Amino acid sequence: MAVSLDIAALRARQAAPAIDVAATQGDGLGCHAGKVAMIAAAEASGMSETLAQLREDYPQGPHDQPQSMCPAFGSLRVGLRMRRTSTILSGSACCVYGLTFTSHFYGARRSVGYVPFNSETLVTGKLFEDIREAVHATAKPEDYDAVVVINLCVPTASGVPLRLLPKEIDGVRVIGIDVPGFGVPTHAEAKDVLAGAMLKFARAEVEQGPVQAPKGGRSERPTVALLGEMFPADPMVIGGLLAPLGLAAGPVVPTREWRELYGALDSAAVAAIHPFYTASIREFEAAGRPIVGSAPVGVEGTEAWLERIGAACNVPTATIDAAKAGILAGIRGALSASPIQGRITLSGYEGSELLVARLLIESGAEVPYVGTACPRTPWSDADREWLEARGTEVRFRASLEDDLYAFHHFRPDLAIGTTPVVQKAKEAATPALYFTNLISARPLMGAAGAGSLATVINAALRNRPRFDAMRDFFEGVGTGYAAGVWQDVPQKKLSPKAEGPKKPIGEMA
Ligand code: SF4
Repeated sequence: MAVSLDIAALRARQAAPAIDVAATQGDGLGCHAGKVAMIAAAEASGMSETLAQLREDYPQGPHDQPQSMCPAFGSLRVGLRMRRTSTILSGSACCVYGLTFTSHFYGARRSVGYVPFNSETLVTGKLFEDIREAVHATAKPEDYDAVVVINLCVPTASGVPLRLLPKEIDGVRVIGIDVPGFGVPTHAEAKDVLAGAMLKFARAEVEQGPVQAPKGGRSERPTVALLGEMFPADPMVIGGLLAPLGLAAGPVVPTREWRELYGALDSAAVAAIHPFYTASIREFEAAGRPIVGSAPVGVEGTEAWLERIGAACNVPTATIDAAKAGILAGIRGALSASPIQGRITLSGYEGSELLVARLLIESGAEVPYVGTACPRTPWSDADREWLEARGTEVRFRASLEDDLYAFHHFRPDLAIGTTPVVQKAKEAATPALYFTNLISARPLMGAAGAGSLATVINAALRNRPRFDAMRDFFEGVGTGYAAGVWQDVPQKKLSPKAEGPKKPIGEMA
């Protein structure tokens, strides 16, 4: 049988820096190895530049460990949502199991590619060869526009060099990204890792020559690209708000199709609806596009946003004023028709927490605390300043402990938060709503947002008597160690730690 020598593969292998053997020993590195060990391994494997960029894009502290799902889920979700895009994971089987489970739980309806490894393939560099082979086997132009490969913690810590993959195979783009849990603090920011990498690739293509036009042709009006995942109706509502300015809503980034990336880069301005897309913003700025923070939420939020968008797109002041006069009256009416009364604490990890808090306050609610797992950026300043001026404590990179402390301290009528916050609130007979599923999956913008948010919040606030009745009914039944069904009176068992060190066997009675 003839054996052909794959010169490109050989060169890539020779050029690849040595894999960090130490990183693969023991039971391998994972969440349990500790952040310090993982970072040290990655630095030793030639990943210093990647880690430095992640540190710059996603600054850490005071809270810097993921307290939610594996961050790589954000990148995986963005890849899986894009048409004609294949997403391949490179990581430990347990991580891949969790990530694929979660993606299908959220209705991915797409296969997730996986290149497995063991200590030997990792140490010898065979894993990189396997990834390269998988990419070649997948990159069929009749099926895909792009193949995305995501390095999880162990391959990143071991320096598996995705940058050495071919950039293109038969016209199919190949995008390799490192998304380690020890470098990307939240899954929200991991969405930006892939969106930014794709924008960078698309920008290079635009610089090289003509690219595909948008599906329905170029908009006659200048467009505003929208940054951040949002409720599907929101881009349409934003389009309606932009029309009186002579503008149109451009693509939403992360996009659902490769050619939309060109359309986004071609926009007159970029609305950073979610303010933490740092890598994407870097690409837009390199393309010369002005960035506008905040979003059209409530009356004051919409007014300020229309002014800033208008200024960024050189819309005459008289046109902006006329647009505001027509739009703001409708939002004012929607807000006064659906008032919210009560004290609400709010926390989440989606990146839209500050916008929701603004809308709640404009609806009449008292919001003493907003926590977000995302970092502070220049594009969240407008919302932060507005909230702080109204007495709201805004906590970036908030930890679960911060959120729970706020809940106990402010004793709200309603807690909006992550699953553990909601659980604590309900235990305390306080109505609570899960931010991700119940709040961020609703329209927020314009008049539609005002009415929609009030409906769900007011329904939850009205539930208080039911919580009181449940608490009264269950009062006195066991909690904590005494929860459950028992034949005997449950006894509290001390943990081995609390019992102190065990006696040596020779001393036992
Ligand atoms: S890839 Fe995700 S699940 Fe796996 S070790 Fe890293 S953070 Fe943990």
